[in-house]
Amino acid sequence: MTTINKTQKQIAIIGGGPGGLTLALILQRHGIKATVYEREAQDANGQRGGSLDIHEDSGQMALKEAGLLEQFHAIARYEGEDFRLFDKSGKIYMDERAEAGETGGRPEIDRGTLCGLLLQDLLPDTIRYGYKLTEAIPLEGGRHELHFDNGETATVDLVIGADGAFSKLRPLLTDAKASYAGLTMVELHVDAEANPEQVAFNARGKVFALDDHKGILAQLNGDGKIKVYLTFTAEQSWLDTCGIPFDQPKEAKRQLLDYFGDWSEELQNYIRLSEELVLPRRIYMLPVGLKWEHKSGITLIGDAAHLMSPFAGEGVNLAMRDAAELALAIADHEDMNQAVAAYERKMYDYSSHSAKDSDSNLKLMFSENAAVKLKALFDRLHAEFAQ
Ligand SMILES: Cc1cc2nc3c(=O)[nH]c(=O)nc-3n(C[C@H](O)[C@H](O)[C@H](O)COP(=O)(O)OP(=O)(O)OC[C@H]3O[C@@H](n4cnc5c(N)ncnc54)[C@H](O)[C@@H]3O)c2cc1C
Repeated sequence: MTTINKTQKQIAIIGGGPGGLTLALILQRHGIKATVYEREAQDANGQRGGSLDIHEDSGQMALKEAGLLEQFHAIARYEGEDFRLFDKSGKIYMDERAEAGETGGRPEIDRGTLCGLLLQDLLPDTIRYGYKLTEAIPLEGGRHELHFDNGETATVDLVIGADGAFSKLRPLLTDAKASYAGLTMVELHVDAEANPEQVAFNARGKVFALDDHKGILAQLNGDGKIKVYLTFTAEQSWLDTCGIPFDQPKEAKRQLLDYFGDWSEELQNYIRLSEELVLPRRIYMLPVGLKWEHKSGITLIGDAAHLMSPFAGEGVNLAMRDAAELALAIADHEDMNQAVAAYERKMYDYSSHSAKDSDSNLKLMFSENAAVKLKALFDRLHAEFAQ
């Protein structure tokens, strides 16, 4: 195993999502330079999904290491912790409201705003846009030669895959592949200002309506939209075979409404009132508890390491915790490969707990009587927390 002087080592981070940006920033705060290679032409985090709750022991811990915790607290939406749970008839099972001035452990922030915070403190030239990794070739001594779609190459001492669900680097470490999780979502948006009644129904945070192995999951974002995920238990091919013309939003909405024909008026209104943007997506996951044999000069963080369904609300939090754990390990160890191995051991432990939770939540939320079961789960967790 080679020992590399920290000031000389070349570190490449593939992917400028929340994980990659957090890693680069914490390394920077420890005087360690890294380069982030991002395939998009510019920051695209604002266009990718909505509000995220940032947990105290993971996402917020990483923001503290990045020197951004105070700024985060100043803009985070604590009222975004409101939570309402329904079945299809509109019967309400939970109605939790964050009190004014309350500072809970899981405040909300939009993905674009969070990544904007991280980007503003990164030194110029840390991030290179328009660099899509096409190949990484292992060399002697743990170094890797990286090839990008723009013809550029780089040879580095450590390459970190922060490149998400379909990581290009993962196959160098494991044969495991992201597989379809049995769920397909259709994302819709309701304009909050134009639909005050729907906002009143939704409250300031999340609504889960669960029944018949389906769901309407809605969340008020900081950008004035309610983001709605219609969620279907379905075969992987369903989007191709269901006949819904997703490129014709009016007709797509009409057909989607048919799937919720016996759901309450207020719940159907999430579809009826939505804008002409209908975004279908399949949900994928990696095997729960995935590990790989440590290799010199390469590792993974975030979704690249432990992609899971979104039902533990942990994805972005884990990506940021991984970033903090890896950066701190690199800063603490003389030998970079020992640092990476120490990070990997720790990450396997905490991420496998979240992956198990996420998988069992997915099964519960789309089973018979899901609203009753989810309420019972929350009651049990609240009771455990109170002890
Ligand atoms: C519908 C949905 C809802 C979700 N809701 C939540 C939630 O409420 N809370 C939560 O914590 N998590 C949620 N998640 C999960 C969360 O979005 C992810 O876990 C998180 O974004 C992972 O961060 P990351 O940095 O590892 O990867 P990503 O955010 O996926 O970033 C990867 C980056 O790598 C870049 N990239 C990819 N390939 C290459 C390449 N070859 N070369 C260069 N760059 C590349 C991409 O462009 C991207 O910028 C949700 C996910 C989905 C699908």
